[in-house]
Amino acid sequence: MITPSHSLAGKLQFPLIISHLSPLPSAIHISKHDNDAVSKMKRCKQTESRNKVTTALVDDIEDINFSKKEISKIRAFLLKWYDINRRDLPWRRISDEKSDVDEGRKAYAVWVSEVMLQQTRVQTVIDYFNRWMEKWPTIHHLAQASLEEVNDTWAGLGYYRRARYLLEGAKMIVDGGGEFPKTASSIQTVNGIGNYTAGAIASIAFKEAVPVVDGNVIRVITRLKAISANPKDSKTVKSIWKLAGQLVDPSRPGAFNQAVMELGATLCSVTSPSCSTCPISFQCQALSLSTNHESVQVTDYPMKVAKAKQRRDFSAVSVVEIVEEESLSDARYLLVKRPDEGLLAGLWEFPSVLLEGEADLASRRKAIDSFLEESFGLELNNSCKVILREEVGVYVHVFSHIRLKMHVELLSLHLKGGANFLQRKQQSTTLTWKCVDNKALSTLGLTSGVRKVMLSVVLKF
Ligand code: SF4
Repeated sequence: MITPSHSLAGKLQFPLIISHLSPLPSAIHISKHDNDAVSKMKRCKQTESRNKVTTALVDDIEDINFSKKEISKIRAFLLKWYDINRRDLPWRRISDEKSDVDEGRKAYAVWVSEVMLQQTRVQTVIDYFNRWMEKWPTIHHLAQASLEEVNDTWAGLGYYRRARYLLEGAKMIVDGGGEFPKTASSIQTVNGIGNYTAGAIASIAFKEAVPVVDGNVIRVITRLKAISANPKDSKTVKSIWKLAGQLVDPSRPGAFNQAVMELGATLCSVTSPSCSTCPISFQCQALSLSTNHESVQVTDYPMKVAKAKQRRDFSAVSVVEIVEEESLSDARYLLVKRPDEGLLAGLWEFPSVLLEGEADLASRRKAIDSFLEESFGLELNNSCKVILREEVGVYVHVFSHIRLKMHVELLSLHLKGGANFLQRKQQSTTLTWKCVDNKALSTLGLTSGVRKVMLSVVLKF
């Protein structure tokens, strides 16, 4: 019985198939008449004829390579499949091999789309990408934008640091003469561009034969080679980059890289891969193992690793609504800008205070009152009149490493002089803030936590 072996005595261990994916019946590839590779392979197993698999443990992932034969078959079948099945996406219309758009604009489109795709699903990215390119069609247009505008256009995608890097990178390229660097190594010198994005830009826009490795590529390669090593381990990642580099087709590097990612995003999915229609199933060692050994499933690859435990944070959030005594209808909301570094850098949020832990209502109110007094000299029911103060709910916002539980209240104040009063009384010299109406709230670069609160609190009241 064979099971993918995980860590053994602290070393990376994985089954290496040392033989013998002799060609399976051709119908397994992508035949119309019989494309059920899995059942065919099971029949092969029953007759114990063609696909004998033996395994061995090796302790060095660096020993795994694709043979020349494997490489040429994988390239040919994958590109053929991609040319027929690739999704029509707006950034591909710009960056397509045959499009006559100049390389710099292609590079810019790939860059924007790849950064957005690191945030969310393709379907969501399409609208964001179209809006972005309409607003800033070239890197030169983007370099003229303000961080505020960029954050506003990015709003809802999360992880705003990526949007800031796009802006900073565009300014850097334009300040350096305006020509997009053309190789993966030179592209990586641009602020915020790592090896994945550099590989995507260089291979798609400039046809450099360099690989890309993202989650989809890791999944496809670990399955092709039945690699059962921790995919987060730096040694594994390095080896997967090497294997991806062996596969990338020098004549069509951009198309090939997109083909691997497309396969991972569509057929070779995390939980239910469609091996029966996969164009390279005949080269897939995970499929071969699973076919021959009931205890193995293709979804055993890549190896699952326990997620790091999230930190639990708690905050008191106060949606401070200010109504000037002279103009009762003109409610405005107090927003405070987060520091330029750290979590959600530079974004606007409702006044909030991080708590020591779960705190009762009285403690939360005390924390908010102190913040308002220390920052704005605002003493409730002294320098202003509280019209309404009520708890509106608890919202949980999950970041990659933090689970933030926000206790939210609505605090409605009558304040003589409104924002001018706050201006006069502001105590902190470092705090940046502003008062906006609810219309402006919906267009600002707000944290997604604030957006959540805004939709259910401000627009409800
Ligand atoms: S696991 Fe299935 S879909 Fe993924 S590469 Fe192997 S055969 Fe193709």
